[in-house]
Amino acid sequence: MPAQQDTSASAPSSLPEGARGSARPAPTHPRPPSAARPYVLEGVRVVLPTGVVDNGRLVVDGTRIAEHAPAGAPVLAAHGLWAVPGFVDLHNHGGGGASFTSGAVEDVLRGIHTHRLHGTTTLVASTVTGDMDGLAHRAGLLSELAEQGDIAGIHFEGPFISPCRKGAHSEELLRDPDPAEVRKLIDAARGRASMVTLATELPGGLDSVRLLAEHGVLAAIGHTDATYEQTVQAIEAGATVATHLFNAMPPLGHRDPGPIAALLEDERITVELINDGTHLHPAALQLAFRHAGAERVAFITDAMDAAGFGDGRYMLGPLEVEVADGVARLVEGGSIAGSTLTQDRAFERAVTVDRLPVESVVAALSANPARLLGLYDRIGSLEPGKDADVVLLDADFTVRGVLRKGTWVVDPFAGRADGR
Ligand SMILES: [Zn+2]
Repeated sequence: MPAQQDTSASAPSSLPEGARGSARPAPTHPRPPSAARPYVLEGVRVVLPTGVVDNGRLVVDGTRIAEHAPAGAPVLAAHGLWAVPGFVDLHNHGGGGASFTSGAVEDVLRGIHTHRLHGTTTLVASTVTGDMDGLAHRAGLLSELAEQGDIAGIHFEGPFISPCRKGAHSEELLRDPDPAEVRKLIDAARGRASMVTLATELPGGLDSVRLLAEHGVLAAIGHTDATYEQTVQAIEAGATVATHLFNAMPPLGHRDPGPIAALLEDERITVELINDGTHLHPAALQLAFRHAGAERVAFITDAMDAAGFGDGRYMLGPLEVEVADGVARLVEGGSIAGSTLTQDRAFERAVTVDRLPVESVVAALSANPARLLGLYDRIGSLEPGKDADVVLLDADFTVRGVLRKGTWVVDPFAGRADGR
């Protein structure tokens, strides 16, 4: 069949009985995946690892994507909508007015749900610097959410970071990365620690990287004042991620290239980028993409409570933050304090402002972070056998549908007047 250049988002037909979820399921009680018949999403522009298939189709069978639909399977027309894999956010502190560092469980679930509405079907919950006992306690609570499948894991950002590059972290609570203390946190996470951001040049930094690597936890270099040479050492010790490259680290200098050059040039490193138009100049993003290539970039949100919620006063850990025009800054000192980004906006910006190929954007939002988390066999691409985690976007890259493990979080077929 020839490729069809249909960019209109024509109204899709109805879903089969039993295969629909509500547009706004309660986060604690999502509608179970349908046990109904497999169905076909037809006419979508499917972004696969091998390229874009115009006028393509996706078969959804329960919680999974299937290769073939049985004869007579219902067909849902979704002509002109992009179908991309659900987004994977490695670094996210909150949303919907809720903080993953301090919110009650129901608030944390609301924050997760807020990001799901924007296409993030897999999320690692990030904490900010706190005292060790508080963080260990928090790790216990978040590990339960990971066990239930609400989050993919826990990311500890701080307290093992540099006071010189502290960003929006409390200076008095920062400490050197003592491996015994790092161990205490990952133990408190009961196997659910995904990543620890640390300033590897501090005393104990390299031993802590080795400890994390031995335990299968991603060691992320960030909030660091390291030199180029110190960064190379940390990569040799087993670090594999750059926490929001460019932000909270020394800038690239021609005599003193610092961590940025080391992180960009090494094939073992995936670089996180916050593509909200505030944290990075578009030229910096291009530089990272050209050096690291589309395979080594992960678009993160680094979102805080105001994401998907609105301007106002918030707390980021113990620090007060003012959000104005969607930009979060510490009340004291004015440092940027996380973002209000959602991954659908990062997608739209990457395609329309940065002019990146859609396949590269999908890699940075889904495949690469899924690989880092060791989940690429289940998520990160729209291949048969994987979870039915699908985002449907219209021609303007606005979210029209979100399917998570076969359940509609945002139902593009809801509210239609065809009596479904
Ligand atoms: Zn962060």
